[in-house]
Amino acid sequence: MAVFNLNNAAQNRIFAQKTIDTLASNAFYGRGYVNDGDKKAAMFLVDEYVRAGLKPLKIDINKDVLSAGLFLHPFSFSVNTFPGKCDVKIDGKELVPGKDFVVNPGCPSIKESFSIKPANSNKYQKRIKKTALLYDTSYKQTKAELVKTAKFNLKITLQKKITWSVATYQDSKAGVEILKTSLPANAKKITVNIKSKLINHEASNVIGYIEGTEIKDTFILLTAHYDHLGMMGKTMFPGANDNASGVAMMLDMANYFSKHPCKYSIAFIAFAAEEPGLIGSKHYTDNPWAELPLSRIKFLVNLDLMGSGEKGMAVVNSTLFPDYFKLLQTANGNSGKKYLTGFKSRGKAANSDHYWFVERGVKGFFFYLMGDYNHYHDIEDRAQNLRLGEYYDKSFLLIRDFIEKI
Ligand SMILES: [Zn+2]
Repeated sequence: MAVFNLNNAAQNRIFAQKTIDTLASNAFYGRGYVNDGDKKAAMFLVDEYVRAGLKPLKIDINKDVLSAGLFLHPFSFSVNTFPGKCDVKIDGKELVPGKDFVVNPGCPSIKESFSIKPANSNKYQKRIKKTALLYDTSYKQTKAELVKTAKFNLKITLQKKITWSVATYQDSKAGVEILKTSLPANAKKITVNIKSKLINHEASNVIGYIEGTEIKDTFILLTAHYDHLGMMGKTMFPGANDNASGVAMMLDMANYFSKHPCKYSIAFIAFAAEEPGLIGSKHYTDNPWAELPLSRIKFLVNLDLMGSGEKGMAVVNSTLFPDYFKLLQTANGNSGKKYLTGFKSRGKAANSDHYWFVERGVKGFFFYLMGDYNHYHDIEDRAQNLRLGEYYDKSFLLIRDFIEKI
């Protein structure tokens, strides 16, 4: 078994853990759209880039000092936010937000009481506007029923597990998702008080680089998204594994490679607005900087969900780029187990920020670690629950070795 000496190691697990603890803390409001959580995270990243010795790709000819703006690649998009109340009561009893229920990401504002009726019942017909339609997890409404129920004002969907996401639009009807075990079988009345606001939000990708020793105009690109779901009223979705963990490893890599530069330049992009639908990375591929055009990207490595690893690593696009996959397997040693126990080989998938780059002809992998940590898009994806261990060190070293072999 390999022993990793933390005092003199390439990777710095303590630094990475501290980065996760910071980004998933209350001060960043879940890195979303309430209280400028994502902008605060972007400023934190600029500071970390400068500390790591990354240079901006843009040059400000008017100033000698580094200004934060040189690292920022800004854009705007619409997003539905929940800056105020998000209360749900069943027969007068408050449900716990994030645990018992979430509002639909596209939910409009609503403040009203409704009687609860199963969606497949005929009893709601007369007083449909005062009725909340209840959909069981397995129940699928037919098209005819959809037309019949078009006048309802609240939709309740029962779920076996509560997870949240972000929408870039507002639905015409309000909706909540309730944990099946949190809704009593004889529940009669639901009272909702939900404040939402569709806003035009400005965000920025954060970009820096380390100059290569030989081929300076060609880049290996390391990426990780720093946004998460933000706030549902007063309830925060911290996003420790998704994706403070990937950002932490990316910054740790930045620290390492600025002391040990490669033949190629290495660029780093922390993407905003991944959660509402890969918006930040799409924006970069639509509007790349002249200093970092897609044609000069030798290979992209995207890190998302890097907090575990006991069960190995998934490699999205391994089947598309078999030569690079071989290189990765070589980096994992002749036994195939120098660092991690194995790889899950995957094809193309639009499940993180690598996607638009690969669609436009850039070669690249998306890595995510697999293990026992199973909080995803829920309020328990907190730093307290995500403590990095030896698999952080092992996956760092594997990815570093892979990058150095490119
Ligand atoms: Zn993610």
